[in-house]
Amino acid sequence: PSAIAVLTSGGDSPGMNPAIRGVVRAALHRGIKVFGINKGYSGLIIGDLEEMNSASVTNIVQRGGTILKSDRCEAFKDPAVRHQAAEVLKEKGIDTLVVIGGDGSLTGAHYLTLENDIRVIGLPGTIDNDIYGTDDTIGFDTAVNTALEAIDKIRDTALSHESLFLVEVMGRNSGFIATHVGIACGAEMIVIPEYEVKVDAISSQLASNREQGKGSSGIIVVAEGPKPGLTYDLAKQLKNHGQQPKVCILGHIQRGGIPSGHDRILASCLGASAVDYLCAGYNDIMIGVRRGKIVDTPLAQVIEKSKELDEALFQRALLLHK
Ligand code: ATP
Repeated sequence: PSAIAVLTSGGDSPGMNPAIRGVVRAALHRGIKVFGINKGYSGLIIGDLEEMNSASVTNIVQRGGTILKSDRCEAFKDPAVRHQAAEVLKEKGIDTLVVIGGDGSLTGAHYLTLENDIRVIGLPGTIDNDIYGTDDTIGFDTAVNTALEAIDKIRDTALSHESLFLVEVMGRNSGFIATHVGIACGAEMIVIPEYEVKVDAISSQLASNREQGKGSSGIIVVAEGPKPGLTYDLAKQLKNHGQQPKVCILGHIQRGGIPSGHDRILASCLGASAVDYLCAGYNDIMIGVRRGKIVDTPLAQVIEKSKELDEALFQRALLLHK
């Protein structure tokens, strides 16, 4: 390619900056011009982009968020608007777009290349880890560690007051964050959308903990689930079963912060690999990692298939509560 552009889209995630840096530095190394687009697809359709150089990405590897800013852009779901976006790119001599974002952002990228003469490469940038075609997404590890830091503090209060806390973590429809956080913080129970947990079962688990001399404090990690308020509903139901749970919603702190070493390495490698793949002529793919190896998956598959939670890991987590 003669020139490429890069954007970040959807919810920001820690590691988007090292990913941008990977793309920019690898492209410049190969003598390819690279443009940064501000505010995701919203910036693309109005031509809010500028050429980047090596200094544009200096000192960002350790910074959370995204220097390119991110956005959700409803208009991009319209093919006519995507056509307009393609024209913006062509006018600047750009033939390839690298999109760093979640499921929705990768869907937009797939349609953009299907309908227009623009090549796209996607990178999985979301804390939720819910993307098919990669074991790991950029930001997941940091989000898990951020949640853990908070829960370790909540645990002090739970122990001091012998109280039960329901701690809600992010993850939308998926329980990846909750499962990993639940194991690592020694939660008494994990509640995720993929498995139905009866309130009776939680109650009897807590009763059995007390009988075993574990005290009556506890942490239950709850995935936010598809609609807001589920954790409060669960608290209400537990109250009806004689429990006195307190609710703590961790919320947006999980999206921000300094990216972990793991996320910086993952993002840097995926960013640089995106350039390798586009130079090798690939199009309409996402670059991910499987069993420690960089792999590509057609975007059509990434969008169509859902990533299954590791059931064995979840079952192991259930066993560890007991
Ligand atoms: P996160 O996992 O952090 O929520 P995401 O990329 O899944 O990230 P979305 O809000 O679903 O976040 O999508 C981001 C943007 O991608 C949308 O605002 C829109 O611009 C584009 N997009 C999403 N779905 C589609 C679609 N079906 N067609 C075209 N563009 C889409």
